[in-house]
Amino acid sequence: MLLVDILNFLNSEINSSNYSEFCRALEYLNHKYYIDAEQVISDYDYDVLFKKIEKFEEEHPEIDSSESPTKLVAKGARSSFETVAHSVPMLSLSNSYNAEDLIDFDDSIKKELGDVDYEYYVEPKFDGSSIALLYENNNLVRAATRGDGTKGEDITANARMVKHILQVGDFKKLGYDTVELRGEVVINKSKFEKMNEAREEQGLVTFQNTRNTASGSLRIKDIAEVKNRNLEAFIYNIGFVKPEMGSGDLEKSQSFNIEQLSKLGFQSAQGLGKTCKTIEEVIAFCNEWEEKRAHYEYDIDGMVVKLNSIQQQLSLGATSHHPKWAIAYKFKAIEKPTKLFNIEYQVGRTGIVTPVAKVEPVSVGGVTVRSVSLHNEDNILSKDIRIGDIVFIERAGDVIPQITRVDINERKNVVDFEYIKTCPSCASELIRRDGEAAWRCVNTTTCPAQNLEKIIYFASKDAMNINGLGKDIIKRFIEEGIIKDIPSIYQLNYEEILKLDGWKEKSIENLRQGIEASKSNEMHRLLIALGIDGVGNTMAKSLAKKVSYLLDFKEYTIDQWVAIDDVGPKMAQSLFDFFHKEENLKLLYKLESLGVNLKGAEINTTGILYGKQIVFTGFRNPELEKKIEALGGEVGNTLSKKTSILIMKEKGSGSSKEKKALDYGVEVMTVEEFEREYSSIS
Ligand SMILES: [Zn+2]
Repeated sequence: MLLVDILNFLNSEINSSNYSEFCRALEYLNHKYYIDAEQVISDYDYDVLFKKIEKFEEEHPEIDSSESPTKLVAKGARSSFETVAHSVPMLSLSNSYNAEDLIDFDDSIKKELGDVDYEYYVEPKFDGSSIALLYENNNLVRAATRGDGTKGEDITANARMVKHILQVGDFKKLGYDTVELRGEVVINKSKFEKMNEAREEQGLVTFQNTRNTASGSLRIKDIAEVKNRNLEAFIYNIGFVKPEMGSGDLEKSQSFNIEQLSKLGFQSAQGLGKTCKTIEEVIAFCNEWEEKRAHYEYDIDGMVVKLNSIQQQLSLGATSHHPKWAIAYKFKAIEKPTKLFNIEYQVGRTGIVTPVAKVEPVSVGGVTVRSVSLHNEDNILSKDIRIGDIVFIERAGDVIPQITRVDINERKNVVDFEYIKTCPSCASELIRRDGEAAWRCVNTTTCPAQNLEKIIYFASKDAMNINGLGKDIIKRFIEEGIIKDIPSIYQLNYEEILKLDGWKEKSIENLRQGIEASKSNEMHRLLIALGIDGVGNTMAKSLAKKVSYLLDFKEYTIDQWVAIDDVGPKMAQSLFDFFHKEENLKLLYKLESLGVNLKGAEINTTGILYGKQIVFTGFRNPELEKKIEALGGEVGNTLSKKTSILIMKEKGSGSSKEKKALDYGVEVMTVEEFEREYSSIS
C-alpha cells in the first residue's frame, strides 16, 4: 500500500463498498507500526482513520465487523506472540500539563492522607515501550509487554537480548522469592542515529523514532536482529513481590527501591530522580528537566511524580484506571517557528491534488523539516495559513510534522490564500466533489503527473510487483522518452537503456527478468494495478474468483457487480463504468497482446455449487475449499447477505455469527452436513 492511498482514505468518505479497503488500510498501518516499527502517518491521522471506521461500524450494524481492526483493541497485543495476563494490572498514569495541575494533585494527596508528613519522588518518564519482568528464585522467567494493561505479549526471548535486563537478580538476598519489575525499553538517541545511518547505507528503510522502534523491536521474531537494535531497559517500579509487601526490605520508599535496584545491577532512575519535600520543589525539578530534555541522551516525554512512601502508596490505592499516588507531568510538544515561503501541489494517481508547505529548514526534535503536508484546503483555511507567514511546526511523539498555527503577530505583507484552480501538471480545471475535502484533476487520460503516478503504482510491490522498476527509474525512463504509458513497460528498447548512464548488461538483464516475470502474475494483481477506486488486494481477490478471463467483466451488469461480496452500489457503478470505458478496454487488450496474463482459475459454471458463496467461520478447511471451487462455488471471506451457506464447526451454540446468518436467511451447516448434502464432494 502506498502512502498516497492511505492519504486518500483520510480524504474520502467511508461507505459500504470501500469499507473493507478502509479496514485493510488500518491493518496495514498496524502492521507497519507494531511489526516493522514504522510510523507511516501521524498519531492524529491514525485516530481520524480509526474513528471513521469505528463510527461507520456503529452506524451500520448490518456489516460484520467482528474481525475489524477496530475490534482488536489491545493495541500491542496483535502479533503472533502468546498473550499473558498480568498478575497485577499495569495501570496507566493520569496526566498533568502545568503547575496548576500539579498543585491540584498535591491538594488531593493532602486530603487523602490527612495531617501527616509526606514527600515525593520525581523521575524522568522515558518514552519507549513498557515491560513487566518476572523473577522467580532470582531468575528471569518471563517478560511481557504492557498490552492493554491487563494482558500483554510474552516476549521473554526478545527481552533476554535487551541491555540491562538481568537474567539473574539477587532478590533472595532482600527476602523475596518472586519479584515483578516494571520498566521501559528505550533506545539511546545517538545510537539510534547511527543505526539509521547504517540502514541508509544498506539501502534499508530508516526507522522513524526511538519509541516506535523500541516497541516494534520487542516484537520481531528474529532474536539476532533484536540484539542489533540497541535496546536497553530502565526499571522504574516494583509491580509486586512474594512474600507480600511488608515482609521484606522493598517496602520503605520509592527512592530506597530505586537505590536497591541499582545496587543489584539494574539501570534505574538512580542519579536522575530526586526526592522532593514540597510540590514547589517538584514543579521546579520538572521545569529543570523540561529545559534540558532536548539534549538528554534518551527521549523522555515528561516526568513521573510519585508519593515516596510505599506504605502511603498502598493506603491510597488506585482507581481502575490509574494509581491515586502518582501522576505524569507531560512536557509540551516541541514546537518551532519557521517561515513558510511557498505552497506547492502534488498530483496523485487518482488526480487528488495535495498541498505541501515549503518552509525554511528548521530542526524540530532532532529532525530537519523542509516540507510539511497541509492535507487539504479546509485545513489551510481553518488555520488561516498564508504564504510568507511564520508558522509553528510541531513534532509531538509524531513522526510526520504538522503545522499547528500561524504567528499572527509576525504577519506582514501576506496575500489571502487561494487554492489553485488548475492542475499544476496539465493545467486542466480542478474540481471538488460533494463530501470530499480534496481537489482533483479529472483529466485522467493525458495528465502527465497522474500518468507518472499510475505507472509507478502499476509496477509497485502491491500491484504488478515488477522487480527493478522502482519510482526513480520510472521517472528517469519517462524523462528519457523510454516509457510513456503502462503498455510501454512491455515494449522497452533495451539498447536505448544501455546508452544511459549507470546501466550495464547485468542491471538490464535483471530489469528484463522482472518485467517478464510480471507477465504471468495472477489475475488479481492486474486488477489491483489498474488502480480502480476501491480495488485493493482483498477486493481484487474477490473479483478474480468471479471470472476465468478478466475481460468477461465487460458483460457484467450492475446487478451482477452488486452480487459480489463487499461490492456496494457505488462501487458497482465504478466497476461498471471502468469496464465500459473505451480507453480501459484498449489498455487491457493491448496488455494481453503484449503477453500479460488476463486469465484466472477455470470456473465450473455447470457445477452444482455455481453461483453459491460459502463462508467458513472459526476455522478453515483448504481441502474442502478446493472441492467447493471445483464444483463452481465460491469461498467468501465474510458472512453477508450475499452468502448462501455458512459452515460452522458446531451448530446451535447461539453464537452471534450463527444468529446473524439466520437473520440473513443464510443456511447454516456443519462440515458433515455439508458433505452429506453435496455428496459428490467426498
Ligand atoms: Zn492534471
